[in-house]
Amino acid sequence: MSNRPGRFIGIRGERTVAEDAGRVFRLDNEVLAFRFTATLSHRASTDPLERLTSPERLRLWLGAAGLDPGPDITEQELAAGVRLREAIHRVGRAISRGRTWAAGDCGVLNATSEGGRPAAVLTAGGRSWRLSGESPVRDAFSVVAQDAIAVFGTQDAGRIKTCDGPGCGGLFLDTSRGGNRRWCSMNTCGNRVKKLRMVAR
Ligand SMILES: [Zn+2]
Repeated sequence: MSNRPGRFIGIRGERTVAEDAGRVFRLDNEVLAFRFTATLSHRASTDPLERLTSPERLRLWLGAAGLDPGPDITEQELAAGVRLREAIHRVGRAISRGRTWAAGDCGVLNATSEGGRPAAVLTAGGRSWRLSGESPVRDAFSVVAQDAIAVFGTQDAGRIKTCDGPGCGGLFLDTSRGGNRRWCSMNTCGNRVKKLRMVAR
């Protein structure tokens, strides 16, 4: 208790990047590319919430995803990230509804995938990514685009859904055996619906 007052002064240094990011972003989506689309939340509401509000925020998110691009992210790169994010979301939503995606969005995904040179490396902690020194942000985006392509272009595509949670509209991969999952996360949207039902009763 004696060091309680000092906790807040040094708190930045005590927390991990993931903890910092967890305060700003929702990081509970199992699919990396969909986790990226969740940086705009409340998509199905009249008031979507943009959480990627600055290059620093983007750096924080990428760091938590194991794609730390270093300190230098430009506004243009942030804009490119948002463009990629929205292309991923539109393609995913189209697939979830059994529709064809827009060629332009598919083009953004492919160009972003091709535009970087990330290397997958095997470590004791599992697979991780090594970004090049020259274009780390582009490399990081390439990883996210490749992740989206890996879901959109395989049997996984049949399991893509948009969340039924109130106002959510987030993408998720329904890996449940019965294929009857309705929420992007039980902890957030699932619980919210449960509570609403209880109140209604
Ligand atoms: Zn949701």
